[in-house]
Amino acid sequence: MTRPVRRLVAALLAIAALAALAWMLRTPIALAIVERGALARLSADPVGALPDGLHVGLCGAGSPFPDERRGGPCTLVLAGRRLLVFDAGSGALRGLARLGFEAGRVDEVLLTHLHSDHLDGLGELLLQRWVAGAHPVPAPVHGPAGVEAVVEGLGRVYAADRGYRVAHHGESIVPPGGAGGTARPIVLGADGRAVVIADGALEVVAFAVDHSPVHPALGYRIRYRDRTVVLSGDTRRSDAVRREAEGADLLVHEALSRPLLAVLARAAEAAQRPNLVKLFADIVDYHATPEEAAETARDARVGYLLLNHIVPPLPMTALETAFLGDAPRIWNGPIRVGRDGDFVSLPAGSRAISISHR
Ligand SMILES: [Zn+2]
Ligand SMILES: [Zn+2]
Repeated sequence: MTRPVRRLVAALLAIAALAALAWMLRTPIALAIVERGALARLSADPVGALPDGLHVGLCGAGSPFPDERRGGPCTLVLAGRRLLVFDAGSGALRGLARLGFEAGRVDEVLLTHLHSDHLDGLGELLLQRWVAGAHPVPAPVHGPAGVEAVVEGLGRVYAADRGYRVAHHGESIVPPGGAGGTARPIVLGADGRAVVIADGALEVVAFAVDHSPVHPALGYRIRYRDRTVVLSGDTRRSDAVRREAEGADLLVHEALSRPLLAVLARAAEAAQRPNLVKLFADIVDYHATPEEAAETARDARVGYLLLNHIVPPLPMTALETAFLGDAPRIWNGPIRVGRDGDFVSLPAGSRAISISHR
C-alpha cells in the first residue's frame, strides 16, 4: 500500500469510528437536546420578546379538509400583552405551540361562527388552558348566539376529566372553578356591529358577514394603539369586510379556489362519489375566491393580505400560484397563501409589517 492510500484508509477508519461513536451516543445526545429544548420553551417569554404592538399568527390556516400543512381555522392575536384566539379548529393547540405560545397563556377566545371546523379544537384548548395555566376562572368564549350551548355542552363532555384531574393533582394545582369557558354571546346592533372588547388601547369589534345559511357569522376588527387587523371569518365577498378593513394594516381573509376545487369535483365524479360532488358544488357559494379577497384588499387599501381557511388543501407549494389565480393582477400589494406557523408583526408607532414563519 502506498503512503497516500494508507493515509486515505486511516482517514476513512477515523470517520467510521466517529460515526460509530455518534451512533452509540445518539440516545443520550437526543435526551440532552430535548431537555435543553424543554427548558428553553418553559422559561421563554414569547410576549416579552416581541415589540409592543399587534401580532397575528396562524395557528390553523386550513378548513374542514385534511391538509398536512394547515390545521382547522385558528388565528392568534397578541395585542400588547393580551392573547386572544379567534376560532379553535382541529389542531388549534398544536398550532399555538408551533407559534411559541402555550394554551395556559390564552386570555380570551372569540368564535366567528358555529360551523364545527371552527370549534373542533375548543374543548382541548380550554382544558389545556386550565391545566397548564392554573386559571382560577374559566376563559371567556365570545361568539354568536348559540355559543352558550357549545360551552355548556363542552362542560358536560369534560366533566369526568375535570373530576379526575382535581382528584389527582389537587385544587391548588388545577382550581376547579377555572375549568372550561364562560359563554359571552355577541349581540349585534342594528348596524350589524358590536364592540366586544374595549379596554384602553385595545378595541375588538364584531361585524356581520355573509356566510348564508349560517346566521350570524362574524368578522372581527381588532385595533391596538395605532395598528389594525381585520379577520374576515367565513364569508362570501362582503361589503362589510371592505368597510371594516378600510386602511387596515393587515387583512386576514378566507379563500377558496374554484378551479382547484373543480379538479377535486371531477375526481369525485370519476370515482362515482355523488355526495362529494354535491358538497364540492355547494360550498362554492358561501366562500370568497382569492380574486375577490384581492379586490377587497385593493378597495380597502390594506397593507397586507394574508389568506387563510384555504380550500381545497394545497399539499405542494407549487399549487399556491395556481391557488392565487388572478389575485396578484387584481391587487399588486403583498399577498400570502397562509400556512400554519405564519406570524405577522405590526409594531405600534410605526407602519412596519414583518412576516416570519415559525
Ligand atoms: Zn369554516
Ligand atoms: Zn363556515
